[in-house]
Amino acid sequence: MGGGESGSGAAVLAKVKGFKVFLSDRGPIKDKYKKLLDQYGIEWEENTHSEERILKADEVVKSPGIPEKAPLIQKLHALGTPVISEIEFAGRYNTAKTVCITGSNGKTTTTLLTYHILQKAGLNVGLAGNVGKSFALQVATEHFDYYVIELSSFQLDNMYDFKADIAVLLNITPDHLDRYEYQFQNYINSKMRITRNQTKDDVFIYWNDDENIRKELSKITSQGQRKPFSLQGGEGIHASVANDKLQLSAEDGGLQMPLNELSLKGQHNLYNSMAAALSACSLQVQNDYIRRSLSDFAGVEHRLEPVARVRGVLFVNDSKATNVNSCWYALESMTAPTVLILGGTDKGNDYNEIKPLVQQKVKALVFMGKDNSKLERFFAPMNIPYVSVDSMDAAVEEAYHFASEGDTVLLSPCCASFDLFKNYENWGELFKRCVKEL
Ligand code: ADP
Repeated sequence: MGGGESGSGAAVLAKVKGFKVFLSDRGPIKDKYKKLLDQYGIEWEENTHSEERILKADEVVKSPGIPEKAPLIQKLHALGTPVISEIEFAGRYNTAKTVCITGSNGKTTTTLLTYHILQKAGLNVGLAGNVGKSFALQVATEHFDYYVIELSSFQLDNMYDFKADIAVLLNITPDHLDRYEYQFQNYINSKMRITRNQTKDDVFIYWNDDENIRKELSKITSQGQRKPFSLQGGEGIHASVANDKLQLSAEDGGLQMPLNELSLKGQHNLYNSMAAALSACSLQVQNDYIRRSLSDFAGVEHRLEPVARVRGVLFVNDSKATNVNSCWYALESMTAPTVLILGGTDKGNDYNEIKPLVQQKVKALVFMGKDNSKLERFFAPMNIPYVSVDSMDAAVEEAYHFASEGDTVLLSPCCASFDLFKNYENWGELFKRCVKEL
C-alpha cells in the first residue's frame, strides 16, 4: 500500500523474489514509479484502494505515510494480516551490514555524514531509507556491502524481526504526536525499536544527555554493545568534547579533532558528528578517513543553509526544522539579532521550549500560516514585534522590513508545511526564490 519510493521499491523486491504482487495507492502515482512497476510487470492501481482485493493479501507492506488508524489498515489488523514496513521486508533479503539512524532531529544530516565517511574510506556502501532512496529496491538490484539507512518512527513502527548492526539514536523530543494519540510515550516506544533484536556483536550508539533516552535504557532487552556520546565525557562515554576537541575513547581508536576543523557548525552538529564518527569507527574505519571526512563534508540543503546577504541582512533557510526542538538548535546557533519566520501546520506544538531563546535572540517574529492564532496567543505577551501572513513572499518581505544591517532572517518553521507546499523542500526552495527577488 502506497506507490511512492518505498512502496514501489518493496513491490520490485517482492516481484524479484517470486511473490504475486499488487500495488495500490489511494492518490496518484508518479510517472517514474509507474514506469518502474511496468518494467517489472507489477500490477498497480492509483486514486483508489480495491478493498476486497487488498483484504485477501497474505502480507501487506505499508508506506510510512499511511497512518495506523486508516480504516483499511484497521481491517487488515482485524483479519490478522501482517502489516510491515518496507525496511522490515527488505531486511529479510539483505546480507549487507547496516548502520540505521533515527532520532527526532538530525537523522538526514547524520546519515549523509556517515555515508560520506564510509565512502571516503573506500567501502562499498549504499544510502537508503528516509533520505529518499528505497532500501528494498537496492536490495533487489544492487550489491552493496554496507548500507547507511535513515529511519523514521513510522518505519520503525512496522519493524519486527529487522536488526540494525549499528543502531544510532540521536535524540527524542516530541514530534508527530498527531500520529501517536498525543501520547509522547508512544512515540518514545517507537524510537526505541531501533535497538530490537540486537545481539552482543551489534552496537547501539546514543546521546547520553537525552533524558528521554536515559529513562528508557533499563527497559532495553536486546544485547547491543552500548556506545553513548555526550558533551560532558565521563565513565563509559565513547565520544565527548574536551579542550575544544571532539574525542573518541581509547577503545574507539582515540581520535581527537579540534572543533574548529569540523565542517558542520552548531552544537547539534557536534552531536551528529560524534554519532557519525562512532559509527564509522565501529566499522573499523581508520581515524584518518574519519578526520578528513568530518572536515570536508559539504552540509545539507535546507538545514541552516545560508542563502544570501541582502543589504547586509543574512537570510538562512532552515525549512527542515519542522518541529520545535530543531528550531531551538537553529536559534541556539544564531550569533546576530534574528527575525524568525515560523508557522504552518501545527502538530500539537508546545512553544515553551523556545521561549527563552526567542526572548534572548529574536527581534521580530513573522507567523506564516493559514491560521496563526495559536502562535499569536503564545508569543504576543512577550512584547516582541510580530506580524501574521499567509504566504512565503509576504513572510520574506515582512521579515526584511523588520531587519537591519547585520541581522539574520531565519526561516525555521517548527511546523509542517501547508497549503500548496508538499514538503519542506518546496518551502525552502520558495523561500530562496523570494529572497533572491528582494
Ligand atoms: P531529520 O532528518 O531528523 O529531520 P535533519 O538532519 O534534516 O534532521 O535536520 C533538521 C533540523 O534539525 C536542522 O535544520 C537542525 O536545525 C536540527 N538538527 C539537526 N541535528 C540536530 C540534533 N542532533 N539535535 C537537534 N536538532 C538538530
